[in-house]
Amino acid sequence: MVKRTVLVTGAARGIGKGIADAFLRAGHRVMIADLGTSPDWNYDLGGDHALSETLDDLSSLGEVDSVDVDVTQVTSCQRAIQKTLDTFGQIDVLINNAGIVDSGPIESFSEATWDRIFAVNVKGIFLMSKTALPQLKASSDAAIVSTASIAGKRGSANLAAYCASKFAAVGLTQSMAQEFAPFGIRVNAICPGVVGTAMWLDHLMANQGAAAFDNRMADMMPLGRPQTAADMGQAAVYLATAPNVTGISLNVAGGFEMN
Ligand code: NAD
Repeated sequence: MVKRTVLVTGAARGIGKGIADAFLRAGHRVMIADLGTSPDWNYDLGGDHALSETLDDLSSLGEVDSVDVDVTQVTSCQRAIQKTLDTFGQIDVLINNAGIVDSGPIESFSEATWDRIFAVNVKGIFLMSKTALPQLKASSDAAIVSTASIAGKRGSANLAAYCASKFAAVGLTQSMAQEFAPFGIRVNAICPGVVGTAMWLDHLMANQGAAAFDNRMADMMPLGRPQTAADMGQAAVYLATAPNVTGISLNVAGGFEMN
């Protein structure tokens, strides 16, 4: 196996932590990146504290370091990429995983919330991919994997901004796959089904508890359980290393979404 350097955004917790864990177990070097200070949002985001705890948790698995990033700010993206280069000397795989959700009817949905969701979930992928491109071009085995969603395959009432942002992530994935193919850079996305992270437990099913979440997912999912961060890690390692796969948005959703 060739050891690769992997930069994972939104990796202080949740799916991003699971992806970082999977790459480390596969023998790669990993830079975990997340917000330093968190802006106000309808649930607590990750941040310095979560990032340093995750760094502690993962450090026994291999070569790993951490960096603050706000993927909506180009100078912050540049600093995160520079720190990755200073630490590991190269970037071969970029995982655009940072993301946020809010829900509610369009009638009362605020413009500021719409803009923030698009800034993180869509512009963040554009800025990180654009900024990392020179390093990815220099790599002999480069890949981008973005965390889209099954919400990028099917719209839902009260989730218009989130679904539209994830449809955009799928479109961006296909466009970058076409554009970067001549450089040998493969570009794919994961479409998770439902993972019991802050998005669900602190927002979409807030105050209902983990047992209610598990019961609902056992009923909802054809394969009878919610998805896990480890499921997403396995998919991310596959997509980043499959030599002849590009432009796909892979459902990892227990059969809940099949298109
Ligand atoms: P999470 O809230 O636990 O993790 C998201 C991380 O992104 C947080 O640590 C947060 O601090 C970070 N983040 C937010 N804004 C950022 C910014 N501007 N710059 C850098 N980092 C930022 O939630 P999660 O479920 O682990 O979400 C990870 C990804 O998976 C997101 O893109 C989300 O949309 C997607 N997703 C989640 C589910 C699910 O069921 N949990 C399903 C489909 C897709």
